[in-house]
Amino acid sequence: AKMLGKNRCVSFNLKYIEKLSRKSDLEYHLKRLNYEEELQVYYQPQFSIPNKKLIGAEALLRWNNKDLGWVSPAEFIPVAEELNIINPIGEWVMVKAVKQISLWNNTYGSGLKIGINVSPKQLDHKTFVPNLKKVMEENAVPPEYIDIEITESLAIEGEERIKQIDSIFRSLGISISIDDFGTGYSSLSYLKFFPFERIKIAKPLIDAISTDHYDLQIVKAVIILAKSLGIKTIAEGVESQEQIDILVELGCDEIQGYFLGRPVPADQFEELFLGDSIT
Ligand code: C2E
Ligand code: CA
Ligand code: CA
Repeated sequence: AKMLGKNRCVSFNLKYIEKLSRKSDLEYHLKRLNYEEELQVYYQPQFSIPNKKLIGAEALLRWNNKDLGWVSPAEFIPVAEELNIINPIGEWVMVKAVKQISLWNNTYGSGLKIGINVSPKQLDHKTFVPNLKKVMEENAVPPEYIDIEITESLAIEGEERIKQIDSIFRSLGISISIDDFGTGYSSLSYLKFFPFERIKIAKPLIDAISTDHYDLQIVKAVIILAKSLGIKTIAEGVESQEQIDILVELGCDEIQGYFLGRPVPADQFEELFLGDSIT
């Protein structure tokens, strides 16, 4: 038993060291990040239901480093936040995404909305609002085509955040979605105070709606609640027709997920989801 204890201790330390060295690798390469060479924005389609009409795309960041290979944003975004480089990275994504939606809407007449993920830290930056405004103007993108996705955990930070988001919303006229709704902290009461346009129901809740009675009831309740507050709902991580059928029945407004389309580079998005150009 003593031996086992010792081994466990050793393997725990090794894991810990591995984790630390992975993190310092990420830091090393993030500090030397060549934006245009290493970063790319992928786009995942969003559809209204039941008609499965394309309504927009979420911009998802991709990092391909020559030493590290592909690194998931779920892994490197938190590190970029710690290194205080989430502002330039977020801005880079914002510019690419706004330009892309402008091009698509002009070429295809599609009236698509672009969903852009924004870290809470970016909101604190004084240049966030003016810069977003500037890119929107430069590319002639009206505010109804811009949707900012903010994670739900942000909603627990309190009244200051509410005021901040409210002022961004008002000064720009863009819409704001709560990302990953239903995971992490519960913030039902904040729905009352936020100027949110849309709730993104988190994938873990959607995963089991066809098999788990409780998850089904929770999603049902979220949709009813949102409807009664005049907030739209989009289901994330939809992977089957069965899930779509249930979501249609529950009155969910929109869906996003591998079943209807994975995140892909802009040229592939065009081939897969955008029809003939209007010109
Ligand atoms: P998220 O905002 O919740 O994005 C949805 C994630 O779920 C994406 O992972 C997407 O590829 C994945 N996904 C979508 N549909 C399905 C599905 O049907 N099945 C499965 N298994 N997965 C699906 P991704 O692209 O790896 O992004 C991970 C997270 O990184 C994002 O979660 C978001 O929080 C963050 N992120 C990505 N791009 C940015 C960015 O530009 N800025 C910031 N601040 N965060 C970003
Ligand atoms: Ca998101
Ligand atoms: Ca999400």
